[in-house]
Amino acid sequence: MTLKLEVTKRAGGTLNYAERVQAGDQYFDVTVTCRRASASRSIPKTRVYVHAPNPEDVGGMAKPEYTTRGDDPENDKRWRQYNWQEIKVMRLFADAVLEDACKALGVTELGVIHFSRKAGCSCGCSPGFVARKGRGWNVWVDVELVEKK
Ligand SMILES: [Zn+2]
Repeated sequence: MTLKLEVTKRAGGTLNYAERVQAGDQYFDVTVTCRRASASRSIPKTRVYVHAPNPEDVGGMAKPEYTTRGDDPENDKRWRQYNWQEIKVMRLFADAVLEDACKALGVTELGVIHFSRKAGCSCGCSPGFVARKGRGWNVWVDVELVEKK
């Protein structure tokens, strides 16, 4: 699974970690970026935001057609399945790298992370995962397909 491991520290306290992950016959560069969360009164729970490929790009179901919710219950069902697969793909990539990344970067234990549509904002514009135990970090997991040569 691991082909490349690279840990870098950048100015401003941002920590970076990159690893190449194989999924099926495709390779992805997965970069983990950690930054201290700003604390006002209490230290917030650690959040993990994952930017992953679409399900159809990694062997999952095709993206359903856009219809108005309620117009076509069968298509609504397909969208629920698709959204569920999106979360599953995010979690797969996060699980593949997070433990090693956090260890390498010295970021405190995350424990179990659970998905929340409102992880980053109460309006739902930035879904992500919220750590059960870890506190004080914002973590971004960016997944990029490595072009086949
Ligand atoms: Zn928002």
